[in-house]
Amino acid sequence: MINLVLFGPPGAGKGTQADKIKERFNLLHISTGDVIRSQVKAETELGKIAEVQMASGGLVSDELVIGLMKNYLSEQEGAVGTIFDGFPRTTAQAEAFDVMLSEIKESVTVMIALEVDEEELVKRLLLRGNASGRADDMSEEIIRNRISVYNAQTAIVSNFYEKQGKYVAIDGTGTIDNIFGRISAVLENYTK
Ligand code: AMP
Repeated sequence: MINLVLFGPPGAGKGTQADKIKERFNLLHISTGDVIRSQVKAETELGKIAEVQMASGGLVSDELVIGLMKNYLSEQEGAVGTIFDGFPRTTAQAEAFDVMLSEIKESVTVMIALEVDEEELVKRLLLRGNASGRADDMSEEIIRNRISVYNAQTAIVSNFYEKQGKYVAIDGTGTIDNIFGRISAVLENYTK
């Protein structure tokens, strides 16, 4: 079973690439951001707490996100594998994730990190905000805050997987198909 952590700052193209990867490699895809947004929309208890944390571009608490992921994994026994998009985002989440996966005799296969510079990220996110109306993509201030949160709290998660020999960085610029080609070349090593 392939457990791919698709990593990178907001706007790096994780969602876009995940759509292509899941088709080609027959994987499931979970985006913690999407799950949280749907809980906010449904006005669940969890959604109400998350909404406040999310609005300024900060992270939702580890406890809440780890709980969501435990739920997801409890339904995944025997599945083909998953692309984890937007998770783990802190070292505490990465540590908890290893434990959760080992409980179902699984582990992270590889982390693929998409590298894109900050000005390009801001440009892409503002465009996405215009097209989608997603609140945290519409304000440059919130976007820059999300990137700072990524630099301060999330970027370090790559060290966790680097130490395990599971970290691969990819150039996240160019056409969608170019980037997908780079990702596929890595993933093919795990599917043969
Ligand atoms: P995303 O769609 O991945 O850009 O996530 C949107 C927002 O959801 C983030 O800015 C966070 O507030 C929240 N979020 C998503 N995934 C996580 C996570 N793994 N840990 C904490 N907060 C998260």
